[in-house]
Amino acid sequence: MTNQISCIFCKIITGEVPCYKIWENDHFLAFLDANPINPGHTLIIPKDHANDLFDLSPTILRELGETVQKVAHMVKIGTQADGINLGMNNGRAAGQLIFHTHIHIIPRFEGDGFKHWRAESIPNKEEFIQMQAKVINYPGEDRGI
Ligand code: AMP
Ligand code: ZN
Repeated sequence: MTNQISCIFCKIITGEVPCYKIWENDHFLAFLDANPINPGHTLIIPKDHANDLFDLSPTILRELGETVQKVAHMVKIGTQADGINLGMNNGRAAGQLIFHTHIHIIPRFEGDGFKHWRAESIPNKEEFIQMQAKVINYPGEDRGI
């Protein structure tokens, strides 16, 4: 297991910091968020330290998908939620506070008042076309995933 000495989520994995564990296997741990948006708000983390989405190996990322589905189902049944939001903040600008990557599983209840983001303004056709070209022509390696 790769571990970062100052990382609080690595400390949760080693047991140095306590958590309310929901589920674990050899590669992932799920536990209750300490500041839940709604009751049952759960985090899933890989046991090998990775900073964010882009730091995860493709193999672990694929396994993470299956794990998210399993744990989200557990949380939905356990909390009797009407719906589930998944969240993943990548980078400080995106609101990431803990730089050990994690998925938020947030139970939602009819009328809970939690608001989704709204578009401030809608781009015109030319702006959409320019943006489409920028993203398609990115300079990185295409890993085919
Ligand atoms: P993020 O903004 O995506 O990095 O969110 C980090 C999340 O980790 C927040 O929702 C915190 O409430 C949660 N968190 C931080 N420390 C702990 C901890 N020791 N146990 C459980 N959740 C934590
Ligand atoms: Zn860590």
